[in-house]
Amino acid sequence: MLIINCPWCGARPEIEFRYGGEAHVARPADPAAMSDQEWADFLYNRTNPKGLHAERWRHIHGCGRYFNAVRDTVSDFFVTTYKAGEPRPDIGESGQ
Ligand SMILES: [Zn+2]
Repeated sequence: MLIINCPWCGARPEIEFRYGGEAHVARPADPAAMSDQEWADFLYNRTNPKGLHAERWRHIHGCGRYFNAVRDTVSDFFVTTYKAGEPRPDIGESGQ
C-alpha cells in the first residue's frame, strides 16, 4: 500500500487522498488582458513531466486540507510533501 505523508496528520494510506492537479499554477493577475491562447494555456495546459512533478493533493478522508507533494511520475514515489503556500523544495528535476 502506498503511504502518503500529510503535513498535518502524518503518514496515511493513499485511499484517504485525492489528486488535485499540478501545484504552483498561479491565476493571472489580469485575465482580460490575455489573448485567447494564453487563457487557454492557463486553463488547460500543464507540464506533465516524466520524473519529479509538484502536485496538489487533498486529504479528503482525513483533515480535508490541501497540500503539495513532489512525486516521481515514473515510480509513483512521493519525494516530499509540504503545506500549501510554501515554495516547492529545491530537490532538482529528476530525483535520480
Ligand atoms: Zn491530513
